[in-house]
Amino acid sequence: MGLHKFCRELPKLELHAHLNGSLSRSTMLQLQRCLADNGMADTSNAFLDEFQIGAGDTRNLADCFQVFNIAHALTSTKETLAKATASTLKEFEDDGCCYIELRSTPRQTPHMTISEYIETIVQTMLNTTDMSIISCLIVSINRSSSQRDADIIADYAIEYHAKYPDIVVGIELSGNPAIGNFKDFVPPLTRARNAGLKITLHCGEICNPQEVIEMLNFKPERIGHGVCIHPRFGGIDAAWELLCKSQIPVEICLTSNVNTKSTPDYNCHHFNELYNANVPIVLCTDDKGVFATSLSQEYQICAETFGIEQSKLARLSLSACNYIFAVEKRKMLMDKLLNFINKKEL
Ligand code: 5GP
Repeated sequence: MGLHKFCRELPKLELHAHLNGSLSRSTMLQLQRCLADNGMADTSNAFLDEFQIGAGDTRNLADCFQVFNIAHALTSTKETLAKATASTLKEFEDDGCCYIELRSTPRQTPHMTISEYIETIVQTMLNTTDMSIISCLIVSINRSSSQRDADIIADYAIEYHAKYPDIVVGIELSGNPAIGNFKDFVPPLTRARNAGLKITLHCGEICNPQEVIEMLNFKPERIGHGVCIHPRFGGIDAAWELLCKSQIPVEICLTSNVNTKSTPDYNCHHFNELYNANVPIVLCTDDKGVFATSLSQEYQICAETFGIEQSKLARLSLSACNYIFAVEKRKMLMDKLLNFINKKEL
């Protein structure tokens, strides 16, 4: 079977996708129309082009973080947030994704409270009975936020995990890696962990070996990116050895790393180092709208760049089942993958 078709058909698990970075152009247009119908948006589309960051774009990592303001303006009401969530889940499903842990930073807007933000996403996920994709929410803390605001987000994550344990499954730390200190977020993350939430941390997006070691010693269930951990990419031996020993799974985002220039090109990506050292990895999209990608495209790029054959791609997807936060869904997803592998005689 052709690689493109195979990557689409392969049942895939998305474990690192930011809601407001995942909005496709058509979803953004839909949200804009919805706001305009309510007299809340202008009707120019010029800003939509500003949202996408392609390879070779001159914007640096810090500039890239500005583009999220565009999506945030569109998801500022309960109605548009619900539409954004539903459309994004549908797009992942259409791409052959059978399980997603969507993440988002709850925020207060002129039209909704933090609590309503979380409730809106949860209710949308609960109402996707017409879809076969299983969806869960990871609550994000932005590392630019104050300790007080981080505490508030953690409290809501704990409250909503107690209310909807099958939906609100984790908490994570993201946002501009050049701002804030991991240490300041340890107390709220620890409270969330003690309440039963699983943890994933954006780790090693820029060179900061001390922080990488602090993060790995915190023993999160997963980390995101892990670019600057191997000494070849600005990391230090102690951090790399700690990662190899701890076997903490890394959420890999190939196109995101290339387009934000965290990695010069696909060939230089640290996928190779992680894969060869047997560190668990999960292929993810990060922000499929911002970086104009899809999960099947990330599998295809991985296969083409690193020569990973179809049977190994399928096993990458199978192994992702071990690292999901909704533990009770593991067996069902593994059965689905094993079925596919047997049927295709891989
Ligand atoms: P949201 O949480 O609003 O649904 O999604 C957008 C937010 O996710 C951004 O404002 C940013 O805080 C975070 N985010 C998206 N992509 C990245 C990334 O590549 N690295 C980091 N550190 N944070 C990101």
